[in-house]
Amino acid sequence: MDYLPPPWKIKMVEKVNLLSRSGRESAVKEAGFNTFLLKSRDVFIDLLTDSGTSAMSDNQWAGLMLGDEAYAGSENFYNLEKAVKDVYGFSFVVPTHQGRAAEHLMARALVQKGQHVLSNMYFTTSREHVERRGGIWQDCIVPEAHDPQKDKPFKGNFDIARTGRLIKKLGKNKIAFIRVEANCNMAGGQPVSMKNLEDLKTLAERHEIPVIMDATRALENAYFIKAREKGWEKTPVKKILKNMMRFTDGITVSSKKDNLVNIGGFLATRNKKIFEETKTLVVVYEGLHTYGGMSGRDMEALARGIREMVENDDYVEHRVKQVEWFGGLLKEAGVPIVVPVGGHAVYLDAKKFLSHLPQSQYPAQTLSASIYEECAVRSMERGIVSAGRDPKTRKEHGSKLELVRLTVPRRVYTNDHLGFAAEGIVNLFKKRQTIRGLKMTYEPKQLRFFQAKFRRV
Ligand SMILES: *Cc1c(COP(=O)(O)O)cnc(C)c1O
Repeated sequence: MDYLPPPWKIKMVEKVNLLSRSGRESAVKEAGFNTFLLKSRDVFIDLLTDSGTSAMSDNQWAGLMLGDEAYAGSENFYNLEKAVKDVYGFSFVVPTHQGRAAEHLMARALVQKGQHVLSNMYFTTSREHVERRGGIWQDCIVPEAHDPQKDKPFKGNFDIARTGRLIKKLGKNKIAFIRVEANCNMAGGQPVSMKNLEDLKTLAERHEIPVIMDATRALENAYFIKAREKGWEKTPVKKILKNMMRFTDGITVSSKKDNLVNIGGFLATRNKKIFEETKTLVVVYEGLHTYGGMSGRDMEALARGIREMVENDDYVEHRVKQVEWFGGLLKEAGVPIVVPVGGHAVYLDAKKFLSHLPQSQYPAQTLSASIYEECAVRSMERGIVSAGRDPKTRKEHGSKLELVRLTVPRRVYTNDHLGFAAEGIVNLFKKRQTIRGLKMTYEPKQLRFFQAKFRRV
């Protein structure tokens, strides 16, 4: 497994506490065996999410001091606009407070009631905003995306044949837009190939359907193209990223991921009509079109984060390889993980890890709680608890997958931290037979995984 040193050094540190075993046992019990209900101060290594958890650089922190907090026409907005134009290649930029707000504006501008949106799998907030407009979501991802053991380089790809058939069947007027997510989150951070993006755009253009990319993790996707797709091995990631954008009409971005800030987002497009509509809407829902819910200083940190992420390939190469290295430690020790390892997280296959537990005892929830007890590492359940219930029938949505997500924040943890986490998980794997399942004792009506409580059976 190749091991890269980080292309940064540590200038400021934040203290973390490692609670004793008994302290962890009582903390997780008090949290109802739900890692979302743990206090951050009781967590030693926090792998809950990569969203908004990045460490900013000295250059970004310095930028905060240059916040121009004018209501209109802040200097920092123009810096942001220029950074988006230089790095992503779009002339029109609408700032928003985070990714879901950009999705909201895009759905309002493009989706009419009864229209369909074709996508590679889905993301929770992206689908929600389309459905709130009366739109219908269609999953067109390649079938292997649903198989955790299938080791394929581009498991985020669109199934182009199926997409073509759907367009024929529905008719182009019934399709609001095609949404392609780079490094598809719900599929485990799996990339889309350049070839697939090009084929998709060709198909969409023939039917005059706009292609909107969820470019939240487009940088990490661009790195995978460099590492895995023929013909791109020698191209700088910065160029690959910009080339990916050629096959889209616009993007929505949660800057809490690739862009290395703790809050922020934007949408960008080269389509004047989309720009004009979303620019009118941003004033209603977010703020004036030169801040869109962000302060001047936040926009400055974001503008600098966007430039920094592509300054050279070192940052993203280390980032993706660190996640891969972490996954490799687990895999080599026989711990069942989803392959290939994605760009932002390692997923444990809890059905295999805790094969003695039936799904009714929530193996992924159990595993996530047990990992915390073992080594004070926080992870997230992505199984039957997250899948929730059908809002009409109230039946549990079945979930083929019972996964635990270990998400790696950007520039926050060294390999020492991840090695410690891997060691804890491997130790737990050795005594997996002793782990007892859970029973749900409190179930919220919506998005139950956030607040549900459990007890040991
Ligand atoms: C996080 C995320 C979003 C939503 O962004 P927020 O900034 O959390 O509102 C949208 N799409 C993808 C792929 C994401 O990972």
